[in-house]
Amino acid sequence: MRAWRLHAVGSIDNLRLDEVAEPACGPDDVLIRVRAIGLNSSELQLINGEWEGYHHGRTLPMAPGIEAAGEVIAVGERVADRAVGDRVTVHYWWSCGVCDQCLDGWENTCLQRRQFGRTVDGAYQEVARVPAQFAIPLADPVSFEAAAALSTAAATAWHMLIRHAALRAGEWVLITGASSGIGVAGVQVARLAGARVIGTAGSPEKLRRLRELGVQHVIDHREEPDFTRHVLAITGGRGVDVVYDVPGAATIPPALLTLRPRGRLVLGGYMSGKTASLDLIAGIAKEWRIYGSATWTRPELRHILDLTAQGALTPVIDSVFPFEALPEGLRKMERRDVVGKIVVTA
Ligand SMILES: [Zn+2]
Repeated sequence: MRAWRLHAVGSIDNLRLDEVAEPACGPDDVLIRVRAIGLNSSELQLINGEWEGYHHGRTLPMAPGIEAAGEVIAVGERVADRAVGDRVTVHYWWSCGVCDQCLDGWENTCLQRRQFGRTVDGAYQEVARVPAQFAIPLADPVSFEAAAALSTAAATAWHMLIRHAALRAGEWVLITGASSGIGVAGVQVARLAGARVIGTAGSPEKLRRLRELGVQHVIDHREEPDFTRHVLAITGGRGVDVVYDVPGAATIPPALLTLRPRGRLVLGGYMSGKTASLDLIAGIAKEWRIYGSATWTRPELRHILDLTAQGALTPVIDSVFPFEALPEGLRKMERRDVVGKIVVTA
């Protein structure tokens, strides 16, 4: 089988399409013939070496990629609830199931976790080995491409907006970096929840696409990097109830100043930088609520897949690349020339 493997961190050019042996199926595993791969910015960070230790000491070469959907082609001897031919998507965060975090219902902060595409070979290969409990079945209406485009983005958005921010109908949400895969999913989940959405993005074309997706007010952050006053004007001076932040350092300071008293900011990314300064006086006076948000849980992913099967959520796919051209998809994402998700079919 073929696998795109990273031979050294530092550049997309260090990915090579290697011929490798198919993985052996352990007793609790399934083997998945990967049919669709969703590309994620965290993979670019791993490949470019921007997060030291990100592959957790994993020796290279390795196959990155956290998001894959496909069909089960082999089942381990102890697996009773998956069968050859099942259509599945991979939940990449392999929690232990027995630690305090897992037992409290927060498998996303499990400290014993393994990670598909980080600590073990991931989505960028034709056949992947996955513990059966992390191969989540797909209902028939959900295509492999849809699953690969929605699983990480929409489940992340759900965890941020619904589980942490407890977003309610009629509330105002500011989504910074709204045209990214995670940003667009945030727009979709916020609209499903009945919220009113203000989105920032970096080009007229991206703003046009966001309007089509139901964003009521769009702001070009290249023209207005300090968008606080603009957001306050849109909300009649009241401020937003929730900020869903994707870029990180560049957008958090102005975004915090758009919050109404007791408004909630959810931290979702750090592509623009890993440290940000806070106006502590404003934060204390307005009783800001700030949530970190790390991935999602399997019940949340199943809920996202149910909504997709019902037609309530439709993936926004920017472009589709064949397996052989996977690095081209990564380069497109690196150029930020994207609205929604880039999918690779295998
Ligand atoms: Zn655990």
